[in-house]
Amino acid sequence: MDHYELAVKPGGQYEGLLKCKEEGLIDHIVFSSHQPGDQVEKVIASKKFEGVTMGLNILNYGYRKESAEQASAHGIGVVAMNPLSGGTIPSHEEALKFLAEEGETATEAAIRFNLACRDITITLIGFNHVEEIDQACALADGLELSDGDAYKRVQQRFGDSMKSICTSCGYCRVCPKGINVPGYMLFYNEKEMFKKTDAEMIEMVYGLEYWNYTQNHKVKSRDCIECKRCENECTQHLPIIERLKEIARWEAAGEDKVQV
Ligand code: SF4
Ligand code: SF4
Repeated sequence: MDHYELAVKPGGQYEGLLKCKEEGLIDHIVFSSHQPGDQVEKVIASKKFEGVTMGLNILNYGYRKESAEQASAHGIGVVAMNPLSGGTIPSHEEALKFLAEEGETATEAAIRFNLACRDITITLIGFNHVEEIDQACALADGLELSDGDAYKRVQQRFGDSMKSICTSCGYCRVCPKGINVPGYMLFYNEKEMFKKTDAEMIEMVYGLEYWNYTQNHKVKSRDCIECKRCENECTQHLPIIERLKEIARWEAAGEDKVQV
């Protein structure tokens, strides 16, 4: 949000872009973001932009669902980057096969999910081989747009197939300390789903800023006072407090590494 505030302050970048638009140098003013859903919503609500690019895929959709819906409701274009979760989905086909319909792969299910999502205008799919272009085109052919039902089905499958993972439903956004519980639990899925080691999770803690699951949230996992409000709301009945303690250890180890 600091970048946003800087851009829109009087005499700032946004005013310059408005001038460029007046002069016909650009057609549209849009923004791209890795922010959590609530912050994206804030920028969209300012009505200063005509489009947004953000990471949206079958795994993290719940985390940004409301911002995509809000953008769509405002008539703002939504460009989805990372539709395959940065390669996570193709490299974990077996673990994620429960996402797929019969006869398709998890990768195909993820592409189909984004292409069919009513609130996503464009999906940016990276290609390494010409066959992947054919695959995406074949999935798009004859596809019908779907609403939130598709995601509900995905969540149901997450719940049925992987009881110990966070479905990013967001019901635990009740923390009196302001801890971003859904963001942290989504991050913890990396350990639960893909059996990452502690060392790998500590490495990933550096990446937290990048993934923005917790970025700009001044309170951290260590600030949990164990009031259990989030656990009482959790639709998956996850041991959130224990997981936050584990994450706090990773965060502390990550901070130590940065200081060294
Ligand atoms: S248990 Fe911790 S994370 Fe959960 S609501 Fe209470 S303070 Fe927040
Ligand atoms: S309520 Fe549970 S499953 Fe839903 S986002 Fe929170 S931690 Fe994840």
